Amino acid sequence: MSLIVQKYGGTSVGSVERIQNVADRVIAARRQGHELVVVVSAMSGETDRLLGLARGIRANIDGRELDVLLSTGEQVTIALLAMALEAKGCPARSYTGAQVQILTDSAHNKARIRDIDGARVRRDLADGKVVVVAGFQGVDEMGNITTLGRGGSDTTAVALATALKADECQIFTDVDGVYTTDPRVVPKARRLDRITFEEMLEMASLGSKVLQIRAVEFAGKYNVPLRVLSSFQEGEGTLITFEEESMEQALISGIAFNQNEAQLTVAGVPDQPGVAYRLLGAVADANIEVDMIVQNVGADGTTDFTFTVHRNDFEKALGIVHSRAEALGARQVTGDDKIVKISIVGVGMRSHAGIASKMFEALAAEGINIRMISTSEIKISVVVDEKYLELGVRALHDAFELEQPRSGQ
Ligand code: ADP
Ligand code: ASP
Ligand code: MG
Repeated sequence: MSLIVQKYGGTSVGSVERIQNVADRVIAARRQGHELVVVVSAMSGETDRLLGLARGIRANIDGRELDVLLSTGEQVTIALLAMALEAKGCPARSYTGAQVQILTDSAHNKARIRDIDGARVRRDLADGKVVVVAGFQGVDEMGNITTLGRGGSDTTAVALATALKADECQIFTDVDGVYTTDPRVVPKARRLDRITFEEMLEMASLGSKVLQIRAVEFAGKYNVPLRVLSSFQEGEGTLITFEEESMEQALISGIAFNQNEAQLTVAGVPDQPGVAYRLLGAVADANIEVDMIVQNVGADGTTDFTFTVHRNDFEKALGIVHSRAEALGARQVTGDDKIVKISIVGVGMRSHAGIASKMFEALAAEGINIRMISTSEIKISVVVDEKYLELGVRALHDAFELEQPRSGQ
């Protein structure tokens, strides 16, 4: 008998009918002889609705009480799923994160899981029950409710699978696997049978929301077999694997994009030691994460400095940079939040030259101007005007022939 952790996302539990459908799937898996732990998200739109209520009280609200509020979304779906299972004759028990002791640090709204006490879950499984656990939430040492950041139910599922030494962690969602890019933007996108952890990690960190990045990190670190599947149709989905020889032929596995960034430029800063530190140090002190950074070669004793931050932090970062720029004697500060970062990802990049020029050629052919570029071993990212998002992603999808099945698949 194998132990499977299944996770169902918001769309998959978006109505009572859909919850019944999830119950049927769980029962079918159980009939095949598996033990089942099921993690659920809040009903689709619910977390946003709750956030909206909180923002009605204070814009930019965060912290402890927000977690108390947001965690209620998942408490509704665990109860409904357990009821649906019981009504269909399948013994089930639901638990909040605090009840199964998903112990986290105290970083409200973006807590990290430290430990899970699997004893209660194991006892219920031994009693022949399906255990239903609320995703996205935990509890800190002081008993405060915490949440794990948007998309965090994926991480709950992987962490539970690790703690319980499950045989597989299955992420059920509204698409039937991981695609070469978001199928909502490129209808020609192709489902991948397999993708490496490394590539999935890059895709997630570069904006593909199909899996939360921490879930991929966790699964890679603890070697949890992870699969993305559809809750609406049958199929093998996409298996996230360690690198295999047969996977090396593909140059590029996928294209990710991030529409949540904004760009800031400080022009004409003195080309002196300590300038980057004084500018970005102040931004970091305000707890603002900086993503891409570009500094030009100095000319005439001055240089230009461009970096990107999350759009939510744009105004705040602009204020900080304005105040610093004056002290530094910079010529001008400009900002733009109508940008998008498009990235191509693939382990094949390691062994092939010319990928970057092919990317730039494809964008140039569409008249798309590149504002910033950054590269790492298995990815190349460009920042372009927001209006070029779809055109850019489609052009790259065509240029790298991603609709063609890659060898070994
Ligand atoms: P859930 O609510 O089930 O967690 P999400 O909305 O978080 O679902 O993630 C699924 C969505 O991720 C898909 O509907 C799809 O639009 C989007 N997505 C982005 N990039 C990809 C990709 N490369 N492959 C598949 N889906 C992707
Ligand atoms: N309900 C949470 C969210 O919308 C967590 C999740 O769905 O994974 O972000
Ligand atoms: Mg999600």
